[in-house]
Amino acid sequence: MTDTALASRPVPADLPTRIQHYIDGAFTDSVDGDTFDVLDPVTNETYAQAAAGKKADIDRAVAAARRAFTDGPWPRMVPRERSRVLHRIADLVESRDARLAELESFDSGLPITQALGQARRAAENFRFFADLIVAQTDDAFKVPGRQLNYVNRKPIGVAGLITPWNTPFMLESWKLGPALATGNTVVLKPAEFTPLSASLWAGIFEEAGLPQGVFNLVNGLGEDAGDALVKHPDVPLISFTGESSTGKLIFANAAPFLKGLSMELGGKSPAIVFEDADLDAAIDATIFGVFSLNGERCTAGSRILVQRSVYDAFVERYAAQASRVRVGYPHDPATEVGALVHPEHFDKVMSYVELGKGEGRLVAGGGRPEGFPTGNFVQPTVFADVAPDARIFQEEIFGPVVAITPFDTEEEALALANDTKYGLAAYVWTNDLRRAHTFAQNVEAGMVWLNSNNVRDLRTPFGGVKASGLGHEGGYRSIDFYTDQQAVHITL
Ligand code: NAD
Repeated sequence: MTDTALASRPVPADLPTRIQHYIDGAFTDSVDGDTFDVLDPVTNETYAQAAAGKKADIDRAVAAARRAFTDGPWPRMVPRERSRVLHRIADLVESRDARLAELESFDSGLPITQALGQARRAAENFRFFADLIVAQTDDAFKVPGRQLNYVNRKPIGVAGLITPWNTPFMLESWKLGPALATGNTVVLKPAEFTPLSASLWAGIFEEAGLPQGVFNLVNGLGEDAGDALVKHPDVPLISFTGESSTGKLIFANAAPFLKGLSMELGGKSPAIVFEDADLDAAIDATIFGVFSLNGERCTAGSRILVQRSVYDAFVERYAAQASRVRVGYPHDPATEVGALVHPEHFDKVMSYVELGKGEGRLVAGGGRPEGFPTGNFVQPTVFADVAPDARIFQEEIFGPVVAITPFDTEEEALALANDTKYGLAAYVWTNDLRRAHTFAQNVEAGMVWLNSNNVRDLRTPFGGVKASGLGHEGGYRSIDFYTDQQAVHITL
């Protein structure tokens, strides 16, 4: 980026320079006054100081959430009343979508048009769970003349919600919506790279009429605030989204407390393109699948497996299209790939780009885009002829980098697709109905899209297998996770 372009770049009006916790209905600093730097991913300069939460702050937040759970009205409201509050939250998010997108894009480096889509989806998540909780029914089982048994569903208590930095606001809504809809109270610990948008929840919730103490927010590092939340004895369940390695650690740390855990973890998802596929559609979708959201998408189709008879044509067309993906300022509506979230993550992604040059054939990108000498900008990068044991085939890069590998038979495609520790998503492109469904049946992935972009239906289960996660959220699975289902037996 040139100095002039950088100087004329718009910065959101009233950009906060101080980001606080929100505990028991009030914004507050850390007990010890500690803060951490929040960086602008375009310049990597510090633009705000965020409160660095520690155990003492988590203790305060959990105590407030616990009081709101044991003494407050929220868990005792009928679903319709809670649903009304959730719908008001959705209305407020929708009405503020432009501001939310502006702040999210500035903080995370996501392209503004995509940040806007994510803000709207956050509203949709609240609306979905507001409707679901009203429609919720529970089973009754009759033993004629002898017994009537029914399920008594109850909120569990204080839910600990720990979220990552990619699409932060939307992913927070994915946990907040069902946790609140079911009558729990919450402590949210957002990712330290992107704390800006989380603080907007407080005003939205207050205006929507969520009772005091139901929502609490503690910023801070994972090893401090996150760790204290996981180890707090009054937090019976943790919903975590993040890296598989962090998930393992949280699993171990929560074990002595026997907590309920939902783990949405990393991925290295395959997109499999058979020779009979609609190549135009497959290319468009696989470009979108790995380069949208800056490639910082858990379900990114970051390994593309292509049948050998169409391999050369696919690689040539794919590389040409990837080279046309527009890298730019996050705030620019024409931008398709913005700035990666943080210099640490930029260095990680760039190290894979360099590694890839020895592991595959570079056919597009391969470094910083021209005109962007600073900031976390990476060219959409494509490696062809990548062997299955290559690190760029096996490891999650979480950036705009894709590995393409040829295959000959359906069996080989399946073996390659399953040949990683991850199992989050898979995308299959073929016009053979039998093959599509057989492949879906056998591929080790929590979610499969057949001849389709990554479009979610909020009623379906969301989650991974293998190192990509444990448990599922989405639709009734979320309601199940955030509630106890007590069985009540009556002798007639
Ligand atoms: P991360 O694991 O580094 O951090 C996630 C969150 O955990 C952050 O809030 C962090 O502060 C916290 N944390 C870190 N150490 C902790 C500890 N010891 N105890 C408690 N909390 C701790 O992940 P990230 O880099 O923020 O996010 C990227 C990862 O998230 C990628 O692997 C991506 O695939 C994954 N992800 C998965 C999904 C999904 O639904 N499966 C969705 C989005 C992102």
